[in-house]
Amino acid sequence: MVTVRVSGTGAFDSNIYLVSNGDDAAVIDAGTGLSAKGILRSIRDQLEGREVKAIILTHEHFDHSGGGKALATALSVPILASSECCRILRDGDDIYSGAGLFGFELEAYEDVEEVGAEIKLGGLVLEVHPVPGHCKGQISLIERNERALFCGDLAFCDGGVGRWDLPGGDLGELKRSLSGALKWDVRSLHPGHGREELKDPKLELNWAYQSIKDL
Ligand SMILES: [Zn+2]
Repeated sequence: MVTVRVSGTGAFDSNIYLVSNGDDAAVIDAGTGLSAKGILRSIRDQLEGREVKAIILTHEHFDHSGGGKALATALSVPILASSECCRILRDGDDIYSGAGLFGFELEAYEDVEEVGAEIKLGGLVLEVHPVPGHCKGQISLIERNERALFCGDLAFCDGGVGRWDLPGGDLGELKRSLSGALKWDVRSLHPGHGREELKDPKLELNWAYQSIKDL
């Protein structure tokens, strides 16, 4: 399994990851779409013969989802997300996607596919864990071979969590989601923003949980 953080992202973009097993690859999160050309170039530069099979969105927020359509169209692949995230994207919902917050309108997505408990793209298998709290439709993904955790905005390195004060956010749910995440068997942490942790993901998840548990 190889995980690459895609470069070429702009100021408002989430982190974007290219994850693969053998020749089968997926892109996790898509940024706002404002820098889609640079991101696409970066993805293609790093593919080295691997084939992207899907764009997977951790959640509906515009900084993660806005670029999904451009990337999926260019790569001719489906967009996968949780059922709640799919609903918000199909509705072109500027409130729950947070697009309005960024000063944009979310173009309605016609084609988004709902994920189950597992995403299997050839040899690449990702476990899907619903983690509401930051928003309604967030999922975290664990790559099965190397237990790499792509947590979206559930937790960040150095003690932060995704904000819960936006529409769809809920502090109680966030605490439950994060306390559940502490039990996962994971070996690296790849959050939706900021740096990655390749050695001690549990420490980072615990710091994130400690920062909100008594609120
Ligand atoms: Zn978010």
